[in-house]
Amino acid sequence: MRFPISPTHIFRLALLAALALSSTASLAELRFEGAVVQGGLLVGHALPGSKVSVDGTSISVSGDGVFLVGFGREDTAPVEVVATAPDGSRVSATLTPAVREYDIQRIDGLPPGKVTPPNQAVIERIRREAGEINAARDRDDPRTDFAGGFIWPAKGRISGVYGSQRILNGQPRQPHYGVDVAAPVGTPVIAPAGGIVTFAHPDMYYSGVTVVIDHGQRLSSSFLHMSKATVTVGQRVEQGDKIGEIGASGRVTGPHLDWRMNWRDKRVDVALLVPPATESGETPN
Ligand SMILES: [Zn+2]
Repeated sequence: MRFPISPTHIFRLALLAALALSSTASLAELRFEGAVVQGGLLVGHALPGSKVSVDGTSISVSGDGVFLVGFGREDTAPVEVVATAPDGSRVSATLTPAVREYDIQRIDGLPPGKVTPPNQAVIERIRREAGEINAARDRDDPRTDFAGGFIWPAKGRISGVYGSQRILNGQPRQPHYGVDVAAPVGTPVIAPAGGIVTFAHPDMYYSGVTVVIDHGQRLSSSFLHMSKATVTVGQRVEQGDKIGEIGASGRVTGPHLDWRMNWRDKRVDVALLVPPATESGETPN
């Protein structure tokens, strides 16, 4: 199956799997909400007190059996989720992400200066900043702030989508992992779900004023290119709280918010988690 990428494209799939691996299994249930697709993020439900593994790696589960499974941009392999209930019974599900088609732009014949990598000092700065933001994401907090769902963090026109990529003079650039919302400088940016602010940087090379909110279980949202942040590290925010304002900081061509999300080492598509854009490509809030 192939899905074209589009900001209005959203689908949800509820999947029931009740394949008992143990002869002593009770009617243990494993249930998922979300899209089993590249960039998809699923909220899983197992029996309270269950332990859950994904391809053999144990992941966090709340006491009431809620956990996350995410798929990256290129993922094609089936993922095996195994839940072990307190009584030792096990259930499993095999999830194979549907393949998407991404917006790939090839631009050839550019003057070489346009595609030259940054100088050494800039490369070191980029590396240092990447280390700082990765360290902020490297926490496994049992909170389930994601469980209440997500709202758009800003009002505006969707100007960039997950997965798109430019190939300049044959050199592939890093794919775009966020969703861009274009709006005037100063437009409020609000928390799409509750969480803890784990990172706030005033001036990153690529992303300018940058904030990260941890939603629990290694799921975090990042907000890029703002004109200012109105939260500080360690602060608790609820869905809808203001966290900053749209700007044009970092390497951008105009004011917009880039909202992106990480689950463990996967980058997932935020557009699959919020109501679809309007016909004219605006966020619906
Ligand atoms: Zn962007």
